[in-house]
Amino acid sequence: MNTVQMSYFIALIVSLLSLIIFLRKGIERRKNKLLSIATLNILLSSILMYLNRTIENVQYSVFSHYCYHFLHCVFPFLFFLYVVDLIGRWYDIKKYKTILMLIPVIVFYGILISNPFTDFAFTYTNGVYKRGAGIYFEYGAASFYMICGVYWIIKYRKAIGTKKTIDFILFLALITSGVLIQLINSEIKVELFLTSLGLLSIGCNIENRDQVVNRQTDCYNADTLVGDNEQYIRAGFKYNLYFINIANLNILLNYYGVNKFNEILNKIGSHLKKLIYKNDTVYYLNSGAFIYLTFDIENDKTDKIIVELNHINELTELNIGVSVLRISVPDMVDSVNEILNISKKVNIKDNYIKKLSSSVIDKIKRETLVEKAIRYAINNNSFTVVYQPIISTKTDTVHSLESLTRINDPNIGFISPDEFIKVAEDTGLIYELSEKIFEHVVSDIKKGEFSNYNLDHVAINISRLELNRLDLPETLKAIIDKYGIDISFINLEITETHQSEDNSLLLKTFNRLKEIGFKFSLDDYGTGLSNISSIYEMDFDIVKIDKSILWNSTKSEGYKAILDSNIEILHNLKFKLVSEGVETKEQVEYLKNHGVEYIQGYYYSKPIDYDKLVEYLKVKNM
Ligand code: C2E
Ligand code: CA
Ligand code: CA
Repeated sequence: MNTVQMSYFIALIVSLLSLIIFLRKGIERRKNKLLSIATLNILLSSILMYLNRTIENVQYSVFSHYCYHFLHCVFPFLFFLYVVDLIGRWYDIKKYKTILMLIPVIVFYGILISNPFTDFAFTYTNGVYKRGAGIYFEYGAASFYMICGVYWIIKYRKAIGTKKTIDFILFLALITSGVLIQLINSEIKVELFLTSLGLLSIGCNIENRDQVVNRQTDCYNADTLVGDNEQYIRAGFKYNLYFINIANLNILLNYYGVNKFNEILNKIGSHLKKLIYKNDTVYYLNSGAFIYLTFDIENDKTDKIIVELNHINELTELNIGVSVLRISVPDMVDSVNEILNISKKVNIKDNYIKKLSSSVIDKIKRETLVEKAIRYAINNNSFTVVYQPIISTKTDTVHSLESLTRINDPNIGFISPDEFIKVAEDTGLIYELSEKIFEHVVSDIKKGEFSNYNLDHVAINISRLELNRLDLPETLKAIIDKYGIDISFINLEITETHQSEDNSLLLKTFNRLKEIGFKFSLDDYGTGLSNISSIYEMDFDIVKIDKSILWNSTKSEGYKAILDSNIEILHNLKFKLVSEGVETKEQVEYLKNHGVEYIQGYYYSKPIDYDKLVEYLKVKNM
């Protein structure tokens, strides 16, 4: 062996050693382990190849040649397994298929084992090594695995992405060219070198730590969570996920600043990792959501997790608030989308550590369906608006109308506004939905029927949240102008304020809306906690006494006194009153006797659609 060859082997061995160290320091995933094993295989092959060329003793040299072939022919199979893992099909492969895939290796092993008697693979005569026809089986086996690998990579290129696919094809081109060169001229020993170069490029480009791990926490990132769960769900595995969500994220961030906050995140990550058993994995999905994945479905780890998290609160000034929720896959949740959705929506508002019951999942699932239904209703204008007449006690005719929205979703059927309005508020869809509803009502008014019946106004419910938008007056005014209707024919209904709320923004929008001509009703009077003077600060045209006050009044004298005194106070403040939820003749009589101006309720009419309403008006107001 000459010095050039010698230095070549030494360089090769050193570079492979460093690659193994590099991979070992990396991530503890199977892909990486496979890559490490493949690299180790090449490393040992190189050493054996070196020995083949240097050992003088014939017996030892023969032995090392055998070792080399036994070892080296496994490499393509390892490579194939790596591909399988990379494209996430590991769990699709049945045991017998894996055994079938081993046949080429086994055949070559058979050839090697029988070689001393057949000389089929190679001969060693007078210290000269000579290849036999059997060696081509080794190349055949290698080609088989490479072709399978390429086939799978191309087939599932979408799963691994274009960049990785290209990296991989380059890697294969390197190896193949090495093999071909050596096949043509066995004296040019480039195969191992080019293979190790290829492995190095994969190690650097594909198995890049930054792509699978979140830096702040050293836990696996969202992409990895998605990939892993897709595999596990497809494979039909049963496992548990623990959603560990930080509730007071923004407060902590403001209090501690980014650096200290990241330290806390890191600490949470490392405390969770203390619980890792076997293949458990901890992920961090940004925005304060950790997920702990375990295949141990027998034992509930919630308490252990809570204990670990409490350790953190012993040290920090401001407590972290965390909710811990356990769900089982696939019983409770069976898609990656749902998992991500839950991680976004699970939350508590407190600053202590708390276990959540799994019924939270049903709530989140329902909310997600409702959210979808709202989007659908907005995009397809498929909500409907019904109207409930409000009757004047003086004239017994329809004084005004209240518009109420209905969603009948093709998927989940009828959803009550009590439910979808809340979801719309939580998801921010309320603005878009309300605007559509508003336009719908305005376009109904534009049809002109209502003006035939001497109505005072149509009331439209708007959410308090909307009053925090300073552009609301302009938005609504633009719709009014588009249809050219009288702005004072619209009465906006808003519910009571909570006393502790900061109302400055709300008041500003309110006053602006009044200024441009909208009327206002205070809805659900008596359910909020606002005091009477704060109501007086706002210039309402009408106050609607909540139905619960009326309904309670029939229960006892005490409740009756509450109704009476409320009517009296509000009248003294010169408000006109609507009593809603009126269902019986007695209630009507009682309210009339107490001077309540307007009555709304099933006693007169349920909310009805536009056409039925016009019929009702014909009868009642002619
Ligand atoms: P609300 O504004 O207090 O509307 C009155 C609710 O009481 C309506 O329920 C109505 O159907 C019901 N109601 C009226 N009279 C009677 C009665 O005699 N007996 C009984 N048992 N119920 C009666 P609905 O339509 O289910 O609406 C529920 C709530 O959803 C509304 O309460 C309102 O807060 C909200 N909502 C409805 N439509 C809209 C909308 O377009 N926008 C907004 N922001 N909220 C809406
Ligand atoms: Ca209302
Ligand atoms: Ca009400």
